[in-house]
Amino acid sequence: MAQFAVIGLGSFGATIATELVGLNHDVIGIDSNKKYVESIADHITHAVIADATDEHVLRELNIQKCEAVVVAIGENIEASILCVLHLKNLGIEKIWAKAKSKPHHMILSHLGISKIIHPEEDMGVRIAQSLSYPMVSRYMALEDNRFIVKVEIKQALHGERFSHLMERALDIKTLIHKRGKDISFSLDPNLILQQGDILVIEGEIESLRRLSARFK
Ligand code: ADP
Repeated sequence: MAQFAVIGLGSFGATIATELVGLNHDVIGIDSNKKYVESIADHITHAVIADATDEHVLRELNIQKCEAVVVAIGENIEASILCVLHLKNLGIEKIWAKAKSKPHHMILSHLGISKIIHPEEDMGVRIAQSLSYPMVSRYMALEDNRFIVKVEIKQALHGERFSHLMERALDIKTLIHKRGKDISFSLDPNLILQQGDILVIEGEIESLRRLSARFK
């Protein structure tokens, strides 16, 4: 169990805070707006009404003890930047902050924080991906245009031999095959796929795109 802080408890910050609690972490949530703090108080470890642009307040809350701090203040760019500066002064190494605009992003990147989040854009990319590849239920972007993708075998591929499905996708690695509760990490090329099987595969986006045509 780790301790995290989320500053700004609008819809984005509140979702992060409650998800972290669901993952069994201690979460301190801070917002200057009493309404937001009250509505989340019963769902997170510690909810505080405070101005996060005040370094003393942050110090008193012992925020430097946290493993990571998420700054989810978006609209008020000045407050977001001041807050990040104080967190840096307090020696917090892992700071993730939400950026609302390009200038906001530029300033945050100059402050050298761990990660800048663009929630609307990230969500837009995910929605576009799942619209264009409906068989992809989850994916993770790696470096150099490589992705790990979870795909489900639909009716059209029921009865297909695994080696046949992959014969023109030799650069794609299959990491996991799951059927019901059975999980296998080394696949028999002669395996006959069934509807509902799950494959977790890894490869370059172009190869994955070519293979995706077989899944439609
Ligand atoms: P969302 O899209 O998640 O609703 P907003 O940028 O609208 O994001 O909300 C950010 C939250 O940050 C708001 O709840 C606001 O009250 C809070 N906030 C803004 N300035 C401060 C500050 N100085 N200290 C603490 N919380 C702040």
